[in-house]
Amino acid sequence: MANHHVRLDRVGQTRTAYEKNRKIILATQDVCAICGQPVDKSLKYPDKYAATVDHIIPLERGGHPSDITNLQLAHNICNRLKSDKLMHANDRFKETEAESKIAVDDLPQHFDWKNYKA
Ligand SMILES: [Zn+2]
Repeated sequence: MANHHVRLDRVGQTRTAYEKNRKIILATQDVCAICGQPVDKSLKYPDKYAATVDHIIPLERGGHPSDITNLQLAHNICNRLKSDKLMHANDRFKETEAESKIAVDDLPQHFDWKNYKA
């Protein structure tokens, strides 16, 4: 596996922007962007259905680490399942880059968070 993780803790501004936008996502979104079901925000991590903030395009794929347009609300379990799927896709990334991109696009993202106002 290539070692190309972005170290958020070494980028203070990115970290601050992420925390701010994460709070906005948690305050303005109520539905899991991956499965489309409501998220019960009274549940606390590591509950399977606790609210998490997911990177729509993972950092490993060049997604922005803190921009609100790359963040969405997701259940803990949905976030993990998506990560697992992308990790497996990543194993084949070099050989089948195009196929991997299709796999990312196949993830359900029907929640229209762009119309939400903070
Ligand atoms: Zn979900």
